Amino acid sequence: MKAFIKTAPGVGNMALGEVPVPVPGPGEALVRIEQSGMCGTEILVHDDLYRGRKRPMPIPLIVGHEASGEVLELGPGASGPKPGTRVGIEAVSGCGSCFHCMRGNYNLCPDWHHIGLTKAGALAEFVTVPASTLLPLPEEVNFDSAAFLEPLATVVHTLERTRPAPGQPCAIIGPGPLGLLHLQALRSAGLSPIVVFGRPGDEKRLELARELGADAALVTNRSEAQEHSMRFTDGIGMGLVIEAAGSPEAVQTALDIVSAEGTMVTLGIVRSTEIDALTVMRKDLTWLGVVAAVRRHFAEAIRWIRTGKVQPQRLITHRMRLADALSGVRMMRNCEAVKIMFAPGV
Ligand SMILES: [Zn+2]
Ligand SMILES: [Zn+2]
Repeated sequence: MKAFIKTAPGVGNMALGEVPVPVPGPGEALVRIEQSGMCGTEILVHDDLYRGRKRPMPIPLIVGHEASGEVLELGPGASGPKPGTRVGIEAVSGCGSCFHCMRGNYNLCPDWHHIGLTKAGALAEFVTVPASTLLPLPEEVNFDSAAFLEPLATVVHTLERTRPAPGQPCAIIGPGPLGLLHLQALRSAGLSPIVVFGRPGDEKRLELARELGADAALVTNRSEAQEHSMRFTDGIGMGLVIEAAGSPEAVQTALDIVSAEGTMVTLGIVRSTEIDALTVMRKDLTWLGVVAAVRRHFAEAIRWIRTGKVQPQRLITHRMRLADALSGVRMMRNCEAVKIMFAPGV
């Protein structure tokens, strides 16, 4: 089968490869991938910037973790959706026995598996995954939107943690796929105004943000973001700030523009940055990290799509063949694309 593979450690070293179709082991299912999206994580893997948890990234590695498909075969002892079922796929599975797994929060498992990062992923014609991670799809959820279930479940997780209120002013820093999915969900949840901030080069993504209902979508630096935020809120600041840009400046900007008693959420991948801790205290802030999602979030994400409250497929800006995945990485990096969708079997 064709697959997009990290072939060796270091920067770059990614290519289309031809590998055997995997055989489902005990408890696993073999899924034929229909649609598979490229994520910013693949850029980190390409640039050798991704650092995992306890488990190392096995190389060579098939990347990709945002996919939908059809069950082809169940491995020994696997109880899951029958062959022929249309499914979405949870990216993460836990060890099942640590404290966090026992609480159902296997997104926090130190020994987690994540397809496309600790084991073979979904930018391929086929993938084997634990049958328990499959999500049968209702009729109204097509393969395109189901390929967004993984990032969308993370948005559900954000809303679960932040409990946003109608009329709450909100800023989203970073108009990438995760930022724009948050935009759709927070708009449906009644937040107002919602302002999206980007950097030079983000113009196309900001245009999409406006189409998706952002009250404003602007290229700004840190101080301009602050000016705009104060202007939109009569000097109070943003009640909810979603940092989905993954740059140190974005985290600092979030802290600048969040209102007293506000909530800021860090979703972008930033290793470290200088923060004025006194501001965290003086603003009586809630500062949350949100990482990945578990099954209850996926269930809710399916409902969001089913009811049309969120339309993730509107983020698809390009469709490509798997053979062109490397140029997809380039287009994602220079912000030409929002979501690139691959149909690996075609
Ligand atoms: Zn992703
Ligand atoms: Zn665990």
